[in-house]
Amino acid sequence: MAVENNQINTDILIIGGGSAGVAAAVASARMGVRAMLIEKGPFLGGKATRAIVSTICGAYFRSEGAALRHAHVGFPKEFCGRLSVASGTEPFTYVEGLRFLPYDHQAFKLLCDAYMLNEKVQLFLHASLSSVGMENGIIDSVDAIALDRRVKIFPKTVIDCTGEALVATLCDLEVLKDETYQASAMVFSLTGIESADFENLSLSVRRSMKRGVEAGRLHPELEKLSIIPGSLKNGSAFFKLSVSRAISDELNKATELELFAREAVSAVHTFLKAENGPLKNAEMSVVASELGIRTGRRSLGKYILSESDVLNCVKFDQAIANGVWPIEYWGHDGNVNMDYFNADDCYEIPADCLMSADLGNLYFAGRNISASDRAIASARVIGTCLATGYAAGKMAAGSVLKRDANEIIQEIKSELLNV
Ligand SMILES: Cc1cc2nc3c(=O)[nH]c(=O)nc-3n(C[C@H](O)[C@H](O)[C@H](O)COP(=O)(O)OP(=O)(O)OC[C@H]3O[C@@H](n4cnc5c(N)ncnc54)[C@H](O)[C@@H]3O)c2cc1C
Repeated sequence: MAVENNQINTDILIIGGGSAGVAAAVASARMGVRAMLIEKGPFLGGKATRAIVSTICGAYFRSEGAALRHAHVGFPKEFCGRLSVASGTEPFTYVEGLRFLPYDHQAFKLLCDAYMLNEKVQLFLHASLSSVGMENGIIDSVDAIALDRRVKIFPKTVIDCTGEALVATLCDLEVLKDETYQASAMVFSLTGIESADFENLSLSVRRSMKRGVEAGRLHPELEKLSIIPGSLKNGSAFFKLSVSRAISDELNKATELELFAREAVSAVHTFLKAENGPLKNAEMSVVASELGIRTGRRSLGKYILSESDVLNCVKFDQAIANGVWPIEYWGHDGNVNMDYFNADDCYEIPADCLMSADLGNLYFAGRNISASDRAIASARVIGTCLATGYAAGKMAAGSVLKRDANEIIQEIKSELLNV
């Protein structure tokens, strides 16, 4: 792709290199169109790598039976298979028949890099979307800051994978937003843990934290600390500290939360060492580089996925992805509420949830698809983001190639949903 005077022409511009953005780029490139991805951070993976969420949910059906059933075939299955090998991990069965894949966050980054190189996606790291130009209901240009200079991109189609519906926001279009969002969490890892038993360690940590808060030795918003299932091995584990504080649309709220969470992780580590239990000699090895903010604004599509669609396992003629994870809603008290639908079943996500209601060449994927706050509490998991990302990439490429949209949707169905 030629770059002249900091101006770039591309068929598809993907904004945001999280799970959804990477999948969208792979799908577009595999359709033979020019795909460009801009990511504001220094590496790919988004929440999966920067917030180190550590497990891929939504990749396997919840089941009472022993057999492992993938939620999708095609790219999401391929990605999880490669990540499992690179991480040296296997799918893990948890409570209520939930299954997920523990992964290594460095392996996740490297796998995303490998996909971009192999599929010849034009990748710009440290490149942040700054404004969007529109004319006649179409995006005709996008401005970005690529580290130290402004670039102007002329895309035929755009896929918003920012997780925050940033394209629609910058275009002053209606977005789906809520007064408050789910509680966030900070992930960190400890080494030198003197227990190999997940249940005992979890109990000991829960008791310590409760005591600490009751005795006034810990901030009252910090009681909820859990060990990420599947992560305890060789005396190390990843921990998730819930920040029981409302997240709102208020300007710069994220700064307050980041500062609070960073200090909180150090305070909790110091406290747990002083407890004289299995963590008395534990040292901090990794702290996520960003606070894990679960949800935010979503784009307004031609259809809004609802809580009832999810809980009733509704199926759609124009389905492009399966949702298999329950509604996992983190309240502001830091407690999680799980709303399950039938085991061995799924809801479907229709193509209209990925297509802008307002702009002809705007698609979206991942945690900013067109869904209610309750529906996105299920559809935001990485397994589902990989599928919606792939589908958005294929739909966007189909429109560039002037292919019939229904035919493309049928292709996506047979590539992903033939489970
Ligand atoms: C605390 C926490 C725990 C979770 N636990 C799990 C779990 O166990 N399992 C699971 O499957 N899911 C989990 N999730 C959910 C899951 O991690 C995310 O919903 C999913 O990774 C979102 O992927 P995405 O690609 O849609 O968005 P993101 O991963 O948020 O990616 C968006 C990308 O866009 C980039 N971007 C944003 N703005 C710009 C801009 N202006 N210019 C360029 N780039 C931009 C960002 O830097 C980022 O890389 C968890 C989430 C959190 C926060």
